[in-house]
Amino acid sequence: MVKKDGDYYQCEICKLHYTDRSEAEKCQEWCSSHDSCNLGVASKSIEATRDRKTHL
Ligand SMILES: [Zn+2]
Repeated sequence: MVKKDGDYYQCEICKLHYTDRSEAEKCQEWCSSHDSCNLGVASKSIEATRDRKTHL
């Protein structure tokens, strides 16, 4: 189950946050059937976006 965490949706498996519920669901679906993160999905997470900004 995707968890609502404040303004964001969290994948309960990899703990990444998303602004879009469908992205979080996609992430969780991937995480539950694979043993690693899907970079295409994970790159849309709050953490990845924040990271990208800090590294500019
Ligand atoms: Zn995930």
